[in-house]
Amino acid sequence: MIDFRSDTVTQPSAEMRKVMSQAPVGDDVYGDDPSVNALQEYAADLLGFDAALFTSSGTQANLIGLMTHCQRGDEYICGQQAHNYIYEGGGAAVLGSVQAQPIENSADGTLDLTKVERAIKADDIHFVKTKLISLENTINGKVLSLDYMAKVQALAFERNLRMHLDGARAFNAAVKLGVSIEQVCQYFDSVSICLSKGLGAPVGSLLLGSRGFIETAKRWRKTTGGGMRQAGMLAAGAQYALEHNVTRLTEDHDNAHYLALKLSEIKGFDVDPSRVQTNMVFVKSINIDMYKLAQRLQNKGILFTPGQPTRWVTHLGISRADIDVTLTAIKEAL
Ligand SMILES: *Cc1c(COP(=O)(O)O)cnc(C)c1O
Repeated sequence: MIDFRSDTVTQPSAEMRKVMSQAPVGDDVYGDDPSVNALQEYAADLLGFDAALFTSSGTQANLIGLMTHCQRGDEYICGQQAHNYIYEGGGAAVLGSVQAQPIENSADGTLDLTKVERAIKADDIHFVKTKLISLENTINGKVLSLDYMAKVQALAFERNLRMHLDGARAFNAAVKLGVSIEQVCQYFDSVSICLSKGLGAPVGSLLLGSRGFIETAKRWRKTTGGGMRQAGMLAAGAQYALEHNVTRLTEDHDNAHYLALKLSEIKGFDVDPSRVQTNMVFVKSINIDMYKLAQRLQNKGILFTPGQPTRWVTHLGISRADIDVTLTAIKEAL
């Protein structure tokens, strides 16, 4: 299969599986798992935080992050397109009694600072208490600049708000910006990152923050059913991913750009390659039934998510040669 549906479909490599199979383990609920502890220390150091917590998913990392920052009757400001607003089952509201205050994202993925400022509630019994601004980087494949994040942080300081980053793909942002992951994370009180997407680990995410923050988050992780036992086998795969699969993300970005460029040359595909920043390509179609095309390509072992626009995601399971095979298959199918 050549699978463009998501970077979540990545498979652990033989080398990663070997490291996982040999990982020393213990009961992580007791804090006894050496591989989980090693991952958490390694990641905290790498991303520039005091502490880190290994979680079962990015959804759980965001949820317990939001529940640690915000109490019942508090709110977080986020993008209308934010994953932790749309795609996480409303967890913060459902489980945390925390209200989201979404703001329409601008075309570049940012939140207009004037709109953010207007959404911050005054201290008045009519209103929930605004506690947090949550950004996402990358968002739909788009990168928020360091300059922009610094401006949001300045506003947060001024209004005494905390800052959270949904950094499921923060490494893609760092690689694209040509800066360290620590530089991307420096503006935030907490960050979540996904290990199970482009980095290629089979399972897991991390939540990072101050020591006290992570202590509280650890309670919420237990409450939400995320206290895992011999999780070290998963943590070892995750650490392998952080050590080996970060710098290669540029290949995925180059491949996405190449895919967009070649698709733009096919009649009926509306895509601007110059707008592809990381590993996602969004394609509008004109007079092409993308659902029919998806069916035909699936018969040839090629998967993508049809829609308007259609999304194509590159990752470590897709080579330049796979893209050429796909382009030929598309032309044949059309
Ligand atoms: C995938 C994703 C998540 C959630 O990760 P899961 O591990 O699938 O729960 C959170 N935020 C963003 C931006 C994501 O892309």
